[in-house]
Amino acid sequence: MTTIVWFRQDLRLEDQPALLAASAAGAVIPVYVLDNEGPGEWRIGGAQRWWLHHSLAALDASLRANGSRLILRRGPAAETLMALAEEVGAEAIHAVRHYEPWWRAAETKLGERLCLHEGGHLRPPESVTTASGGQFRMFSAFFRTLSASLPPDPPLPAPDQLAGPDQWPQSERLEDWKLLPTRPNWATGFDVWTPGEEGANDALDTFADALRNYAEGRNLPSVEGTSRLSPHLHHGEVSPRQVWHALSGAGEGAASFRRELAWRDFTAGLILGLPNYARENGRPHFDRLPWRHAPADLKAWQQGRTGYPIVDAGMRQLWETGWMHNRVRMITASFLVKHLLIDWREGERWFWDALVDADYGNNAVNWQWIAGTGIDANMFGRIMAPLSQSEKFDAGAYIRRWVPELRGLPDAVIHDPEEAGRRPADYPPKIIGHREARERALAAGRKVR
Ligand code: FAD
Repeated sequence: MTTIVWFRQDLRLEDQPALLAASAAGAVIPVYVLDNEGPGEWRIGGAQRWWLHHSLAALDASLRANGSRLILRRGPAAETLMALAEEVGAEAIHAVRHYEPWWRAAETKLGERLCLHEGGHLRPPESVTTASGGQFRMFSAFFRTLSASLPPDPPLPAPDQLAGPDQWPQSERLEDWKLLPTRPNWATGFDVWTPGEEGANDALDTFADALRNYAEGRNLPSVEGTSRLSPHLHHGEVSPRQVWHALSGAGEGAASFRRELAWRDFTAGLILGLPNYARENGRPHFDRLPWRHAPADLKAWQQGRTGYPIVDAGMRQLWETGWMHNRVRMITASFLVKHLLIDWREGERWFWDALVDADYGNNAVNWQWIAGTGIDANMFGRIMAPLSQSEKFDAGAYIRRWVPELRGLPDAVIHDPEEAGRRPADYPPKIIGHREARERALAAGRKVR
């Protein structure tokens, strides 16, 4: 019997329940379908195309080392898979379940031929509900309930052997997909990453040493205090169960890390209940918020030229490496929404294109949380002060790393060189004063109430 394994955001051989189940049934045809239309405006962004190229190459190499290979096809996912199943005489298509609305639509179309497996989350998100069976609005309550069903199941081994079909179907060539970037001056620092299962496991090993200090280290952009596993987790090069069990040590660091890891489960449950969360305010009265249409300000934010060193450092780290430290994501996102009063969806879109870990649920939920428009009741009036955040979390070395114009400044003035009269001529003045911005945002918030 021949079975298709449909790889999506689960590009690994270990703890891959779809691959394991299919390999037990006979010959396996692993396939990846590049569907540019299904996700509509959420088709994969620029930074992720780079990642995907390398991750697919790595997956193909691992499969080949096991006597198999990855078949590449392009087109609408469900129709392309059905056609392939006809072509090779496969009765079943195995896949790991995913929660993005376009994946769910494709899963529905595939109907009974599709066998779905859990494996992308600590627990199936739909199984973690309130006592009345409803959806959690707040992470803390969600985490309490989830914790009662943890630890997650132990990870599954990679299949012992992968039998192929007598005759392999045609595959497209990865190079022809042209996933690598052509934009000038972009992605210059992407070589810090090693996409693929091996790179993911190396990142996991490296982080194990920093785990002890994670509780404090995770908030300091100047140190490598977090795991940087997000792009590997998003593409499923390592599963959250593997991560959980590999880092299951005792202590505050491990406990704090497991709590962060559980956020992925929370956001998956949220987009399952509210599939349009990436486009619609969680609380509809925020539709009345008078956002500014300010293309020049948006551009200054995107390019890291706002005159706020911590914001500019973050936006430039994003542009060069496709990733930004979590604390700085919060500061830059808050700056766009509150200081510049620009619709959170503009920032969400930019992140979608620029992040190697861009994730439909994680991105939308975090943007709405920062914006204060989400279902979790975080207040719009809560406005982060970027300069004091920068001081509090000791971002001096981080700013020097990413904003060369400020490299010569000492810690005492680097967070706010303008205020200290030390702004270099080649560094932009503040796009707006903090107090003025705060008042403007609060006035806009009052209109909604
Ligand atoms: P660690 O601190 O080592 O955390 C381990 C893992 O837990 C992460 O890899 C991630 O999978 C998960 N995680 C941690 N924090 C969060 C969180 N707040 N929400 C969801 N999952 C979390 N994360 C994404 O994976 N994709 C996104 O598109 C994304 N967009 C964001 C947008 C904004 C405005 C903000 C404030 C945060 C966003 N995050 C997103 C969450 C978080 O910033 C990143 O997951 C984290 O910085 C990744 O670095 P790390 O792997 O070193 O994290």
